Amino acid sequence: MESWLYITLIKWYNLHKRDLPWRETKDPYKIWLSEIILQQTQVIQGTSYYLKFIKNYPTVKKLANAPIDSVLKDWQGLGYYSRARNLHFTANQIIEKHNGKFPSSYTEIRNLKGIGDYTAAAIASFSFDLPYAVLDGNVYRVLSRIFGIKTPIDSVAGKKVFKDLAQSLLDLKHPADYNQAIMEFGSQQCKPTNPDCGNCPLSQKCWAFKHDAIKELPIKEKKIKVKHRHLNYFVLKNKNKVAFFKRNEKDIWQGLNEFYLIETKEPVGFEDLLPQLIKKFKKIELSASSKEIKHVLSHQLLFCKFYVIEVSITPKEYELIAIKDLQKLAWPRLIDNYINTCLLN
Ligand code: SF4
Repeated sequence: MESWLYITLIKWYNLHKRDLPWRETKDPYKIWLSEIILQQTQVIQGTSYYLKFIKNYPTVKKLANAPIDSVLKDWQGLGYYSRARNLHFTANQIIEKHNGKFPSSYTEIRNLKGIGDYTAAAIASFSFDLPYAVLDGNVYRVLSRIFGIKTPIDSVAGKKVFKDLAQSLLDLKHPADYNQAIMEFGSQQCKPTNPDCGNCPLSQKCWAFKHDAIKELPIKEKKIKVKHRHLNYFVLKNKNKVAFFKRNEKDIWQGLNEFYLIETKEPVGFEDLLPQLIKKFKKIELSASSKEIKHVLSHQLLFCKFYVIEVSITPKEYELIAIKDLQKLAWPRLIDNYINTCLLN
C-alpha cells in the first residue's frame, strides 16, 4: 500500500515540479551527467552545462574519447574540477570494464569513480527503477523537520539514522517518482530558509512546524573551516605572448592553466616580491597591476592580485601563448575573468 508520505509528495510533485531536461530521459549516461553537474551547482547554471555536455558528448564513448583539456574547457566556470576529471576517467572505465554500456546494478554503479551513495541511488532509481532511496541535502532537511530528528546529519550516527529512515519510507513500486518528489519538495517547498509552511501539505504531520523548530533543523555537527590563501599572479609577457603553466598538484584547479604564481602566507605588495622576481628573471618591467580580488571557494577564501611584467626569460616548465589565443585554454573562473576584462580588452 502506498504510504501517506508518498501520496502527499506525489500530489505536490505533479502540481509543482519544474520541467528539467534530464527528467525527460531514463538514459543512465545522461542522468549521470546531470547528477555530477548539479553537485554544488544551482539548477539554472547547471542546465546550460548539461545541454552543452549532451551536445558535445552525446554518448559515453564520445566523452571517453575526448581530450581531457576539451572536457575541462567545457567545464570551465562550474568549479570543483575534480568532477570533470572523474567524469572523463569514469567514461573510460565504462568503455574498458563494461564494454561501453552503463552498468545497471546499484553495486556496479556505486563502484564507478566519482559516484557516491547519493549519485548511485539517483541513477539506479531514475534509470532502472531500482529501490534505493536518495539522501541529499534536501532529503536530510525534509526528513529531519517532518520527523523531528536531532541527530547531526554529518555525524556517523546521523548518516545511519537518516539512511535507514529514508530507505524505510521509499515507495518500492515507484522509487524514481518518490525520489524525484522528495528532492523537489525539499528544494522548492521545504527550503533551508523561509520554507513555505503556510501552504505545505505536510504541515499537519510536521514535527518542526508543530514545535516551532524549523530554524533549528537539520542539525550539523561541524563548522567548515575556511582557509585563507594569498595568490600573487604574474602575467609574464614577452612581446605579444604570455607564459602559462598547467596545475598538476592535488590542489584546487588541478588540470587547469594559470600564470606564474607566488603564493604567500600573508598579504604582500609588489615591492615585497621584487627581489624574488629579479633573482628569477634578472630584468623585469611592471606594466600593469590589479586591485586585490576576493574569490570564494567552498573551503577556501582566495585573495588574488595580478601583475603584468615584461620579461625576456620564460621559466622552462612554462609554455608561451599569444594573448589573442588565451581563451582557447581552460582557466579557473577567477583567471578567466581577469583575462577577459584586463588582457583582452
Ligand atoms: S511544514 Fe514547513 S518545515 Fe514542515 S515540511 Fe512543510 S515546509 Fe517543511
